[in-house]
Formats: sequence, C-alpha cells, structure tokens
Amino acid sequence: MVKIERSFPAPESLSREALKKSGTYNQEDVFKRLVQDFHGKCYICGLGNLQDPQIEHRLPHKGGKYRDRMFDWENLFLACGHCNGVKAQKKYDEGIIDCCREDPEQYINFRCNSKNVELTSKVSEENREVELTIMLIREVFNLRSPAMRSYKSARRFQGLQMEMNMLLDNLEALRDQPDSKVVLRKLKALLRRESQFAAFKRCYVRDHLSEYPELKKYLV
Ligand SMILES: [Zn+2]
Repeated sequence: MVKIERSFPAPESLSREALKKSGTYNQEDVFKRLVQDFHGKCYICGLGNLQDPQIEHRLPHKGGKYRDRMFDWENLFLACGHCNGVKAQKKYDEGIIDCCREDPEQYINFRCNSKNVELTSKVSEENREVELTIMLIREVFNLRSPAMRSYKSARRFQGLQMEMNMLLDNLEALRDQPDSKVVLRKLKALLRRESQFAAFKRCYVRDHLSEYPELKKYLV
C-alpha cells in the first residue's frame, strides 16, 4: 500500500446519483477516475492491470445503511475482487489507513520472505488503523483457506515474488556496474509508487540503503 494522490473535484455522477433513490456509485466516470488516480492497481495488495477492478468503500456502507458513505468520493478506493471480498469481514469495519491522506510507508514495514509477507508497525503507540491494515494485507497474501481464496492469495504472492526477484536482479546488476544508466533507469521504474507491489520493493531498498545510497532519491 502506497500513498495515492486523489484528484478533485469528485466525479460528476456521484452527487447526481446520491439524489436518486436507487442511485449507484458504479458509474463509468467514477471507475475511470479511480483507475487513473490509483494507477490501475488494487490499493490493498498492489496488484496491477486488474482484470476485475472494483469500487471499494474504505468505511463500509452496509448495504446502503450509511448512505453518505456510498457516494462520498473520499471513501471510494480501487481494489481487486479478492481484496474487496476479504476486507468485507466485520473486523475491518472500523477502517484501515486512508492511503489518500496518510503515507502507509511511514507507518508500516512491508517485508516478505520466501513463504509469507511480514508486515510490522513502525509506530510505537497503539494505532487501530495501522493494526487493521497490517492484518488485512497479511490476510490477502497469506490466506491458505478456503480453496478459491487461497488460490488468489497464492497468485498475488507469486506476483510479489516475481517483482522482488526483478528488484534483486537489478540491485545485483547495480553492484556490478554502478555507473550503468540502464540499470538505474530500471530501478527507478521498479521503485515508483505506480509500479506493482511498490511498498515491498521500496521497503527492501530502504532497509538496505547503506549498500545503495544512490537509490535514496527514488524513495521520496
Ligand atoms: Zn488486491
């Protein structure tokens, strides 16, 4: 999860639809804007080029019970179907970090090993949003049941590993050819917030910054 710059004003259809009894936030202009603002990635798992992009409500509207939340532009996020489904559990109702207001990388270490993602809090005081965000992201990558969800978790974890391997290959290339502009350009692209699973790659480089001080400028 990385910081997203939400664009304003809100898509036009939202205020119009909110006035209708059976209005819907599932409008083309809302989708288009979310795909643009969120760089076509799920804000929870970081998977890109989504086949099944969905509009996710950070604070749930509970089937329209909280109608203002349904059409509130600042409550609408782009997610994949898998993450949207996992987040629908009641325990996440209080709300995860709002990545359009806060930078999640300031609150969470996004690390992974060969089997699981390992997220930890960077803040010493108790922070419910941070705790729930960590719990959710762990769950969308590490779920091992039921079968369908575990398959989707495993696919995301494989995608993350491929992206991490690409990063490691290019870091190795940088050690061999520290002046290579091609390698630096690739690393810059891999560390952009717009790239898939960016938070994990950025955290890895941040953890190893003493070995690659020249990459610091790509983490701002
Ligand atoms: Zn997702």
